[in-house]
Amino acid sequence: MATIFTKIVNREIPAHIVYEDDLVIAFLDISQATPGHTLVVPKQEYKNIFELDEKISNHLFSVVVKLAKAINLSLKPKGLNILNNNEAVAGQTVFHYHIHLIPRYDAEDVTFKLVDHSKQLDHSVLSKRADLIKSAL
Ligand code: AMP
Repeated sequence: MATIFTKIVNREIPAHIVYEDDLVIAFLDISQATPGHTLVVPKQEYKNIFELDEKISNHLFSVVVKLAKAINLSLKPKGLNILNNNEAVAGQTVFHYHIHLIPRYDAEDVTFKLVDHSKQLDHSVLSKRADLIKSAL
């Protein structure tokens, strides 16, 4: 079954589209977490980053940069977050890969809480963790 974003690509449901080319579409997120909150989406359905094709992601990220600059110029936020949720545990609700561009006007308008564990730093644990990641590249 087509995802909700494919329905936007196919003009089966409405959206405020701000950019489109052969591979990528971008439109305003319906939730507008902040004014100008935008989603950048590959037209082809990839569930999440673990399935994403690298050629598409290179192009997609160039569109992300272009749109971030356009949002910055036009809406004049004080900053901007880039967010991508992969799998339900990470907050993904639409299982068609997408990147959120979230302009920031105030430090309080969006909350992310990253817990700082640097006080319990154990370099041998981190070294093993880094080796595991490197071995999978
Ligand atoms: P995520 O939770 O990262 O999967 O993000 C999914 C996003 O899609 C949410 O921020 C929703 O507000 C947004 N969304 C869902 N349906 C639509 C729609 N029809 N048009 C625009 N944005 C949508």
